[in-house]
Amino acid sequence: MPELPDVETFRRYLSATSLHKKIKAVNILSPEILEQISVPQLKEGLKGKYFETTLRHGKYLCVLLDSSKCLVMHFGMTGFLKYFMKAEKEPPHERLLISFTNRYHLAYDCQRKLGKITLVDDFNQFIQDKNLGPDALSSDLDFNTFKEAIIQRRASIKAVLMNQKVIAGVGNIYSDEILFQAQIHPKIPGEQLGDKQLRRLFLVLEKVLETAIDHQANPEKFPQSYITRHRGSKGKCPKCKRQLKKTKISGRTAYYCANCQKI
Ligand SMILES: [Zn+2]
Repeated sequence: MPELPDVETFRRYLSATSLHKKIKAVNILSPEILEQISVPQLKEGLKGKYFETTLRHGKYLCVLLDSSKCLVMHFGMTGFLKYFMKAEKEPPHERLLISFTNRYHLAYDCQRKLGKITLVDDFNQFIQDKNLGPDALSSDLDFNTFKEAIIQRRASIKAVLMNQKVIAGVGNIYSDEILFQAQIHPKIPGEQLGDKQLRRLFLVLEKVLETAIDHQANPEKFPQSYITRHRGSKGKCPKCKRQLKKTKISGRTAYYCANCQKI
């Protein structure tokens, strides 16, 4: 499921391929992915316009148009972008196809159709309306904000990290990685974390997300010491080589090392 590093990788991809090109046609192949906008409204909002720049907040990608409107994309469980010219390069589950006058296309592919697309006037207002917390990599998230947000929660630290209203951008995979690197058990309640653990967690949060972005969010390229590379029922801890444990937290499967992440 695309989390902050994946969406940041999509943002960079879109910026490198699709800016400053005139939009010739818009095809909405699965209208159910649209949120609070109709098919004609989206077509009208994009046709003849140009993408000018990109922004990201948590797992949301915003593409600013020359009309100053903002195309917002969320990638659900399976979403990604593809820029291509020839039909044989077309991805298999495209839901939105934007065609430029240079004969290239940008496809939004989402097999499970859990992603969402909308067009808004103001991205900051959108973030407020969604009640999203600060982006996990933004300068708005300083240590004190982070600490305050976590120590008032009784939920397990993994659930807190995945709560987009607390911090935007972290999901199931990266919360496991962050907690593993910080050597914190995923089930410890947020309010029970001490200052030392919180400081470690805060530093590791940034380090893990940036490392993932540096490797285009491709786990196969992550350092060997990352648990993400070893997820799965036969996975072993990259530090102590013991069998990883799994548990359910907030309906998601968490992997951790009971030896390195003691409760
Ligand atoms: Zn271990």
